[in-house]
Amino acid sequence: MKFLIVANWKCNPKTIKEAQKILKGYKAPKNVELIVCPPLVFIPQLKGNVSFGAQDCFYGEGAFTGEVSPTMLKSVGLRHVIVGHSERRVLFNETDEIANRKMKAILQEKLIPILCVGENREERESNETFEVIKRQIGEGLDGVAKDKVKNIVLAYEPVWAIGTGKFASAEKIQQVKIFIKKLINTKYGAKASEKVKIIYGGSVDSRNIASYLSDAGMDGVLVGGVSLRIKEFNQLLKAVK
Ligand code: PEP
Repeated sequence: MKFLIVANWKCNPKTIKEAQKILKGYKAPKNVELIVCPPLVFIPQLKGNVSFGAQDCFYGEGAFTGEVSPTMLKSVGLRHVIVGHSERRVLFNETDEIANRKMKAILQEKLIPILCVGENREERESNETFEVIKRQIGEGLDGVAKDKVKNIVLAYEPVWAIGTGKFASAEKIQQVKIFIKKLINTKYGAKASEKVKIIYGGSVDSRNIASYLSDAGMDGVLVGGVSLRIKEFNQLLKAVK
């Protein structure tokens, strides 16, 4: 099994030249499935031995200025789409209901959604982590049929760990992984729960990645900031075991 590494470039870098330089510098080892999610506008001019994914999408087509649908993403060869990233939830008021509509639209096109879930700092401090995850997964997957679930990736991304240099312990992450597996098992059965990939995101770097993959048993990681720094990102890729 290859580990899934998702590089989320967010609204970076500033120019196509910089984007080409970053991608050219990536050295992905054989045990890694690398999905790079750059700003969509750069993708036609990027070449590399990686798959490209989208950072977001919309659930409809037509009079929705500025939006891009899963059908459009599929038509240019993209397979993975991030949904419900905390920056979308916090900065753009994306609700669980919106994330759910996107999930259904993505799955309808047989693409792979990467649904991000995770508690914020206040929720963590008041011990609401599991409650929040249960709600986000319950509502995010509401109405999603059993035969579609095997293609889903769930990303546990505690909001307080994203871009902050703070990170959760492997033990805590493993507890969350077990909890998510149980949720999927209860709703969709053991086979579906086995197939669903669960990855971790939040200040992942070359020093902490091993604890998420080998100690916490995650299927991969979602990397933001470090994926823009070629040397550090290659060190992180090298540390995948
Ligand atoms: C993210 O963008 O989801 C993320 C995990 O970012 P960072 O690695 O910078 O914390």
